[in-house]
Amino acid sequence: MQQDQDTLTTLLDPATSKARLLVVDDQPTNIQVMYQIFAGEYQVFMATGGQQALDFCHRTPPDLVLLDIVMPGMDGYEVCAALKAAPDTRDIPVIFVTAHTDAAQETRGLEAGAVDFISKPVNPAVVRARVRTQLTLKRQSDLMRRLVFLDGLTGVFNRRYFDQQLATEMARAMRAQKPLALIMLDVDFFKRFNDRYGHQAGDDCLRQVAQTLKESLRRPADLVARYGGEEFVCVLPETDFDDAMSLARELEAHVRQKGIRHEYSDVAAVVTVSLGVAGLAASASGDAAALLALADAQLYLAKNSGRGCVRGQSLP
Ligand code: GH3
Ligand code: MG
Ligand code: MG
Repeated sequence: MQQDQDTLTTLLDPATSKARLLVVDDQPTNIQVMYQIFAGEYQVFMATGGQQALDFCHRTPPDLVLLDIVMPGMDGYEVCAALKAAPDTRDIPVIFVTAHTDAAQETRGLEAGAVDFISKPVNPAVVRARVRTQLTLKRQSDLMRRLVFLDGLTGVFNRRYFDQQLATEMARAMRAQKPLALIMLDVDFFKRFNDRYGHQAGDDCLRQVAQTLKESLRRPADLVARYGGEEFVCVLPETDFDDAMSLARELEAHVRQKGIRHEYSDVAAVVTVSLGVAGLAASASGDAAALLALADAQLYLAKNSGRGCVRGQSLP
């Protein structure tokens, strides 16, 4: 829970992290003006073209984008539409900044998914206030999203969040040509555990398993979620299949080493888990459903191979 608590504190306290603004404008002088207005309060990044802005947002999502409309090549509407169409960038608020304001243009901007509209030349006090408002809203919705996405019993992410993240990571892996791996695991003979020790002890066991998984994953991008009853999943971005297999074996060992007594298990005198690993190579293509189905099939294989073990495969 520590990790989630820290994130929560960060989300609630604006002082702990400076918000990140991306200013997109083909005129460096306009960027300069925005930089002077915001550099004291926020981290300001800049892009002079649409594609550059999109690349930045996918790689290191900012908290807000200030977007010029008229630019050579990709214009602001197109950039905004592309941001709103991708799952990993659609929650970034966009404010249009433009020289010519008429109602039609404003309407078109709002329809493209912008949250506000500011006209050039900008009034520093006005633009500061509007940006602050949008950042506050963004912080609040990030916090709500986070609460909605945590599992009440174990404190790890829930199924809903996992589904969303898997889709996001899948898209990212394809775009960046990076590998992606998934581990699905299930507690062995857990029904018997509940029958023997009671539901309360069962809940406690699930908390300990979740904690062990969380502690065992090292990279910040790794994610653990409770998939259902006594089933958990780990999403491992930029991890190739062999590394995911090694990690799965570590997870198996760490849960065993916890030494949670389980007299009625046929595997060991302690709680064990079975794990299925699915890999997606850097250049391979696949979809989230196929990767998930493969991990599930490999978990089933692990169960049929005596439990307390790892099975895995890479998508062809
Ligand atoms: P296997 O080794 O094949 O996985 O056998 P199993 O007994 O673990 O699997 P089965 O699917 O038969 O039973 C899962 C059990 O997990 C049944 C259910 O009561 C228990 N369970 C699911 N969610 C919770 C929970 O939140 N708390 C507790 N205490 N038990 C749960
Ligand atoms: Mg089970
Ligand atoms: Mg199960």
